[in-house]
Amino acid sequence: MGSHLLDQFLQENVQALKDQGIYNEIDPIESPNGPKIRIGGRELINLSSNNYLGLATHDRLRKVAKEAIDEWGVGAGAVRTINGTLSLHVELEEAIAKFKGTEAAIAYQSGFNCNMAAISAVMDKNDAILSDELNHASIIDGCRLSKAKVIRFNHSDMEDLRQKAKEAKESGQYNKIMVITDGVFSMDGDIAKLPEIVKIAKEFDIMTYVDDAHGSGVTGKGAGTVKHFGLQDEVDFQIGTLSKAIGVVGGYVAGTQNLIDWLKVRSRPFLFSTSLTPADVRAAREAIHMLMESTELHDKLWENGDYLKAGLKKLGFNIGDSETPITPCIIGDEAKTQLFSKRLNEEGVYAKSIVFPTVPKGTGRVRNMPTAAHTKEMLDEALAIYEKVGKELEII
Ligand SMILES: *Cc1c(COP(=O)(O)O)cnc(C)c1O
Repeated sequence: MGSHLLDQFLQENVQALKDQGIYNEIDPIESPNGPKIRIGGRELINLSSNNYLGLATHDRLRKVAKEAIDEWGVGAGAVRTINGTLSLHVELEEAIAKFKGTEAAIAYQSGFNCNMAAISAVMDKNDAILSDELNHASIIDGCRLSKAKVIRFNHSDMEDLRQKAKEAKESGQYNKIMVITDGVFSMDGDIAKLPEIVKIAKEFDIMTYVDDAHGSGVTGKGAGTVKHFGLQDEVDFQIGTLSKAIGVVGGYVAGTQNLIDWLKVRSRPFLFSTSLTPADVRAAREAIHMLMESTELHDKLWENGDYLKAGLKKLGFNIGDSETPITPCIIGDEAKTQLFSKRLNEEGVYAKSIVFPTVPKGTGRVRNMPTAAHTKEMLDEALAIYEKVGKELEII
């Protein structure tokens, strides 16, 4: 018999979500997460993954991951600081540093974990963090964990950031100040204004922290948003994930040797949680090598993104102002957005609806994530379905 208080809590809260129509039902997929997926026995064109370059299912990564299992086993056996640092981890970190153009890098079990790890290893209750209001949940949680004062600024509003940076600096209340932003914002596909952010940071002696989870492999010819702006020597913390464009799992911080050395002795997920498995680490390193060898997959991703965007725009959809392959199709009304996504699904396209509170009220959208693995035929088929459903629901 469990606790009746827990039962009551769960019943009330689950019902509340259901009543509001925001209880998320998960659809397990019965195939690899490639450009086409199978759900409930049906084949769908997949426009919902973060598998930007198609690497999650790439043969070259499968091969090295299998070899790593044969050679090293399935687990790393310990946390990094005891004896869970295999030479594979060191090789991965060297590859990441090279890829990012920094002195050093440190790998974590996920991108989410990076933000838990890195922010609180450096910031404390006597510090302040300037945080873009649309920053990812893991940044918000990482900031909370640090106990620093969090000062939110309006999304990509450099006037607001400058004003708040100035106030924080001049108040004399804080030992250290940091500004944190996503590199690419995943709901609209817009890119952070890093040159302005770095300029403001310099003016007020503020540390800079860029979480480029959606930028790595995508912007800067694949090397990410910081490289896109040529700011690798100016940004103090470059965060990335190994789970999106890289196609595997894990996350990393790239920065100076001193920073990485500090994180290795002070960041708690590194010290107290078992390290990435041999297969993950080996596959991630292969993916990074592939990105450094060639921009072929990156180029294909952008070609497909541009093709899908042009097609949707021509049909008359509102695709917002994305600067990356992320392609929102903004419907507006929440219920209509959900119906639109459901009808796309019934016709053969898997594109999730994203509505309030994830995005502001009245800006409900179906978000499309084209990848390098999609063919023109798949995108044409998706566009034809968009046209049919868009007309049926009188959106276009
Ligand atoms: C997806 C995402 C993460 C989490 O990365 P995982 O490796 O999936 O844990 C962190 N930050 C941002 C900005 C993200 O978009």
